[in-house]
Order: sequence, then C-alpha cells, then structure tokens
Amino acid sequence: MKLTKAQRAALREKFGGRCAYCGCELSEKWHADHVEAVEREGRFVRGKWVKSGNLLRPENDNVDNLFPACVKCNILKGPGTPETLRSALTYMAHSIPRIKTYSHVHHLMRFGKLEIDTTPVVFWFERYCASADGAERG
Ligand SMILES: [Zn+2]
Repeated sequence: MKLTKAQRAALREKFGGRCAYCGCELSEKWHADHVEAVEREGRFVRGKWVKSGNLLRPENDNVDNLFPACVKCNILKGPGTPETLRSALTYMAHSIPRIKTYSHVHHLMRFGKLEIDTTPVVFWFERYCASADGAERG
C-alpha cells in the first residue's frame, strides 16, 4: 500500500522513532515492514525470481499491519513474522560457538572478551509497549 506522508510520519513514531525490532534510531532510510507478510506473486525467469507485484495475501496490506523497521531488520525478517525473526536470531546466537572456523570468536570467548547471549530475544516494540503499559498504569 502507498502511505500518505502523514501515515508514514505516524508510522515512524509508532515506537518512539526506533526500529520495532532492534530498537536503533531510524535513519532517513527505513522500511514500513508488513508484520504479517503480504507475499508477492512471482516466477522464475532465466533463473531469477521476478515479482509480479500481485499480493498473495492482500488482507495483510493495511496500515495496522505495518511496523517501522531499519533496513537490516526488514531484510533479515523477509517475508517471515516477528516469531520467525526471533527464531532466526536465537539460532544465530546458539550457532556462533559451533562455528569452528571463526577463530577470532573462539579466542575472544576463551579469554572472556566475548559472551554470546542466548536468552530469548526481546524486540524493541515489546519493551516499548511494556513501558508504555507501565506508564499508563502509573
Ligand atoms: Zn532494526
């Protein structure tokens, strides 16, 4: 969907001007992420995926289904949901110590200079909404 300037400005401020997922301050380049994907129709043309522009789930193309996201988070999330993004990040955190060829990581871990946090990922929008709920309750 094409957002109006006012809708885009409101979306940018939805979580305090920060990316819904990592919480970084949004730069001038940020994406309106479909929380639940719209999935675009496409087909392979000479080995390359070409999107037709037709939406497979047009019901998800509405302003209530949009989160402001930094480019990196939006690309990492792709057509997934926040839960698939959380799973991907959790997998990454658990897999780092198993990457035997990445010797810098292992040496830094041996010397206690790098710790991998494998606790569940909490997105910025979850912390933001929790603090807003707390403020409302007083
Ligand atoms: Zn982000």
